[in-house]
Order: sequence, then structure tokens, then C-alpha cells
Amino acid sequence: MNAHRHAADGVDSAPRLLGPAEIRDLAELLGVTPTKKLGQNFVHDANTVRRIVQAAGVRAGETVLEIGPGLGSLTLGLLEAGASVIAVEIDRRLAEQLPHTVRIMQPGTQLTVVHADALRVTELPGEPSRLVANLPYNVSVPVLLHLLEHFPSLTSGIVMVQAEVGHRLAAEPGSKVYGAPSVKAAWYGTWRTAGQVSRMVFWPVPNVDSVLVGFERGVEPGTEAERRATFAIVDAAFQQRRKMLRQSLSAVLGGSAAAASAVLERAGVDPQSRGEQLKVRDFLAIARAAGAPVDA
Ligand code: SAM
Repeated sequence: MNAHRHAADGVDSAPRLLGPAEIRDLAELLGVTPTKKLGQNFVHDANTVRRIVQAAGVRAGETVLEIGPGLGSLTLGLLEAGASVIAVEIDRRLAEQLPHTVRIMQPGTQLTVVHADALRVTELPGEPSRLVANLPYNVSVPVLLHLLEHFPSLTSGIVMVQAEVGHRLAAEPGSKVYGAPSVKAAWYGTWRTAGQVSRMVFWPVPNVDSVLVGFERGVEPGTEAERRATFAIVDAAFQQRRKMLRQSLSAVLGGSAAAASAVLERAGVDPQSRGEQLKVRDFLAIARAAGAPVDA
């Protein structure tokens, strides 16, 4: 790794973050060919890493959860800011190498690597307060929803996702890109886009654009049972997004358009409206009017 090449120059000039040379060296060392299946596009630009860490507002001493640390580009940026990092990585080679990379480039920092599928983790070795990640693009929404459901200690975060997904997560009702992910994300808090990221900072260069998306957790509007009922209604509404709700929700609200209309009216929602016009609280009102089970 380049850290060795610079060793003669003294500690101060040794790189603390990964640039193109270190990324190339590490990939070669591990025999890693990035796979599309795991969304492996590694950041090789220190400025981008520092920008993400700054946008996330990471403070020294706090515990940050990173999903998909890869070769460690963002991990090193988080550690440099003084955070303790819990990093969940599905690729065994990358998970095993990361502690070595960190020991060489930033000795004495606090990293715990968990070799696991982020979609399945329900326990972590710590209570992270912030999520900061360059997410694998093909599973970014399910990963986010899974983490928000299972780790209430996460109160804010910044993630890098495919641009379309980021705009959808942050969309408001009435927007063309407002969809099921927007409503489900809004259950947990408020979302905003926080800037674009050039394709050129990744290796390999992806064929999609990326954006940063930030969130602040809020008070969930209903119980866990109501959340599940609400999400099922959201899925049904957006599966047929062009249809009026009395049609799109007929299967899940009583089996007919008339039965669905009655529930919608009880919820104070116009049966002729469409899912794209409704806020998360409207969907919750529908779930409640339909008799959503309440948690014991
Ligand atoms: N954070 C690194 C960076 O910025 O260079 C790598 C980001 S890369 C876009 C996504 C990373 O997520 C890869 O390291 C990949 O192996 C990992 N990954 C993919 N699916 C995952 C999953 N289900 N759970 C945990 N990690 C996953």
C-alpha cells in the first residue's frame, strides 16, 4: 500500500485516506474484481470522503454505523473525524482486510467490523447514533428501511445512493417521483438531498449518477403493527399509481371499490384521489380506519 511507500517521508506525509493508488494496490492485494451484484463502486477521492463526513456532521467520540465499507475509503474518513465506527460488510475478503488497512493508515482508531448482510442484521456491537454510508445501490432502500426499523439509536444520517433513488426518498406528495419509498422513509423522519457526487470519484465508474441524502429521525406516527398495516396499503396504492385509491386499494380494503370507498371516507381521504397525493399520515389514517391491529 502507498502508506509504505511514503513511510520514509515521515508520519505526517503518509496518506490517512485512500486515493487511486491505494485503492488499486488494495484491490490487487486482495484479488478483488468489483462486482455489480454487490454494488461495488469504490470511492478513490479524499475530498469527496471529507465532504460526506462533513455533511453528516460527524463529531469526535460518537458511534457511527457504516454499511458496505468496501476497501475503507469512507471508514477512514469517519475515523479521521474521531468517530468510533461499526462497519457491516457482506464481502468476506473486504471485511477481513479492513482492520489491517485501518491499523496501517490510522492506528489507534476505533473500528469494529461485522461480516454480515446488512439486510439481516438485527444486533450490533454498540449503539450507533448516526448512519454514514455509500450504499450498495441495488439494495439501498431496503437496507435503509431495515436499519431504521431495527436500530432506534440511529437518529440521523447521510447516505450516498443512486440519484433517482435519492430524489424519490426526499420527494414530497404531488412530485412525479413520489412513491412507496418516499412514504415509508417519511414514517421514520424527514429527508433531504444534500448534493450530487461525480461519477469520476468511483472505481469502477458507475453508469448512474449519485446523490447524498440526509435524514433526521422524528417521532414515528403510529405503533409497529400500524406501521406494517400502513406499509401494506402504501405498496398497494403505488402498485397501481395511476388509479384512484378506491380502485387501487379495493383488494386490501374489503374486496370491492365500494368497500374501499367507505374506509377511505372514514379516514377523511377522498376515494377519487391517488396515492401520489397522500402524506404518510393519510396512509396511517386509512390503516386505522380499516381496523389496523394495535400492538399489545
Ligand atoms: N464504502 C465504500 C466506498 O465508499 O468506497 C464501498 C461502497 S460500495 C458502493 C458498496 C459496498 O457494500 C461494497 O463494499 C459491497 O461489498 C457492500 N455490500 C453490498 N451488499 C451488501 C449488504 N447486503 N450488506 C452489507 N454490505 C454490502
